[in-house]
Amino acid sequence: MANGGPVQHGFPHLETVRASITALYKRLSYDTVQTFATSVLPADVAFCDTDDLYLGAQRVARELVRHYRLPDARMVVSFREMNHAASVELAAGPEYFVELNDRFRTHRRDIGAALAHEVMHVYLHRLDLSFPGTRDNEILTDTATTYLGAGWLLLDAYREDAASSQKLGYLTPEEFGYVLAKRALVFAEDPSVWFTSPQAYTAYVKGMAEARRDEQQPPLTAAGWAGRRRYARDRRHAQDQHGAGAGPRQGVPYAFTPDGREPLRVSFPCPTCQQRIRVPVRGRVRARCGLCRTVLECDT
Ligand SMILES: [Zn+2]
Ligand SMILES: [Zn+2]
Repeated sequence: MANGGPVQHGFPHLETVRASITALYKRLSYDTVQTFATSVLPADVAFCDTDDLYLGAQRVARELVRHYRLPDARMVVSFREMNHAASVELAAGPEYFVELNDRFRTHRRDIGAALAHEVMHVYLHRLDLSFPGTRDNEILTDTATTYLGAGWLLLDAYREDAASSQKLGYLTPEEFGYVLAKRALVFAEDPSVWFTSPQAYTAYVKGMAEARRDEQQPPLTAAGWAGRRRYARDRRHAQDQHGAGAGPRQGVPYAFTPDGREPLRVSFPCPTCQQRIRVPVRGRVRARCGLCRTVLECDT
């Protein structure tokens, strides 16, 4: 887990974040994702300065192991001086050695956030789910942590004041907010009540706006006027060309079947899981995503 440096903002990793959500549904299935309807609660991972450092860290780690339902996994937490915020040794188990940066000795309230990420590494390791390359794999880990109910801790560890800033994880605060919002929309949850950091709340609001935009893209009926108009023009073009050359374009999430077969079809990403859905172009269509089971009202 990375540590320090200037805090990056916005949505530079959004493509990989979305691919992570799709990968999670594919590997876990809808039913397993549904078992994560309840988030880790603040009381579960609370850590006060009077708690014993090692016993407290072990207790929080156990709570996360329980949350992710990792049978017989045991985390052995230690502290040492290091450049990174934290790391975990991915061995065969059932014991896993987690190292936390020495600074957590005096920043105990963020130990839950660091462990949420590290224990998720173990979870994904056991699932044999990974992305190639450190960067993408860390984005997958942060996204999975957040989507499965423990990542609000990572966003809440983001704090800025006049003197200093702190952020954990690879996603930007807004991207954590985005994944948290995606989760909130699926489980009808309001994580904002758990934030202690005002900056976390702001990032969540921005992430929620981005998540809502996913639900307002044509051919979904919730699309706005401008998007619908552009869609109608692209559809006319695709019909004229019998679909030829009407593949995905930059910044446009939908694509018409480009092989000229009749009838014309349109594909677009599911707003919940980002898996591509394909429906016939014939006006009002109700589709159901085969991966996350979201019912999608479309006007094609
Ligand atoms: Zn990591
Ligand atoms: Zn879906």
